[in-house]
Amino acid sequence: MESKFCILTDAEDLRTLISSTEDNLQIERTRTLFEEIRASINNNEEEDRSFWRPVLPWGGVYTIRAGRRAISCTPLYVKISLKNTCTIDGFLMILYIILRDNHSFPREVGIFLGRQFVEHFLYLMDSYDYTTVKMLWIWDRMSKRQYRSVIHHAALEIDLFGNEHENFTKNLETMLSTMQESLCTNWSCPARFQEFLQRTININPPHELPHRDPIQSAVEEFFCPKIILCKELGCNGLREFSQRVFCHGPPPFVILNMQLWKSEELSYVPYHLALSQHRYSLEGATLFNKEEHHYSAAFQIDGYWMHYDGLRSDNLILLNKPPELLLLSSLVYIRASDK
Ligand SMILES: [Zn+2]
Repeated sequence: MESKFCILTDAEDLRTLISSTEDNLQIERTRTLFEEIRASINNNEEEDRSFWRPVLPWGGVYTIRAGRRAISCTPLYVKISLKNTCTIDGFLMILYIILRDNHSFPREVGIFLGRQFVEHFLYLMDSYDYTTVKMLWIWDRMSKRQYRSVIHHAALEIDLFGNEHENFTKNLETMLSTMQESLCTNWSCPARFQEFLQRTININPPHELPHRDPIQSAVEEFFCPKIILCKELGCNGLREFSQRVFCHGPPPFVILNMQLWKSEELSYVPYHLALSQHRYSLEGATLFNKEEHHYSAAFQIDGYWMHYDGLRSDNLILLNKPPELLLLSSLVYIRASDK
């Protein structure tokens, strides 16, 4: 188990292997995947609304050729099997659409995720090399704590079972980071001045319904100044929180974590959102099916909505009308002014 699979435990080697696959791919591509999907929307026929080939299918098997370090090892070919990838698949799909649909976004997202990562990601998606896309995300962005891996026969199995916010949103570096300062009114407070940093945007459902626009209100509540009782031990002062701001300016897109929201609270999902003094518009959503513990995604291109579910055989389908976003895991909004 140890020496035989030495190559598999070395993330550096795997990264090299993944990047070298670029040289092996000789696909003649005249259009990007995004252009193919957009063309299929325009040419679609009523009876067949699915994209002509599966995109980012669930799971995946990545076969690697063992490198020099494994010469004495058998077998020469090893496999990596991916399981429960729906916790990253939907977001990878939406990330791809966002990056291809907005010219300035790859550069901006590259500031956070690395220019090489973004270029490689787009290249692999456009090459239909979906398992490698997932391997790139796993090795480049995820930490080892975020997945389970076991060696099973001649293959390494990586299981991504879990939560998509843990496996995807938390790995966007500081892109979604927001900061709020607070000051306690009590001069003898043990920690008068404090800074609160949050890397994701978790918004809470309203306490009572009905409400004008519960999602917009929840976003405002997340960003707005507030005064609460100070929670420092022995302090009975009031703690004043400043307006919350994005640490690195308004990000190209935001992911709102909607896990706490029930279906009845989601009857109205706004297409436009004012967020920290910037306008954002709805680009997509990820959906969660509790019974199957399965994630899928919906996104729009030119106002046409598509549903992506990696487990189906026709896994990308053009919808007749905007989807009902009642089983939300997240909402994805893009900064509006860039289009
Ligand atoms: Zn205090």
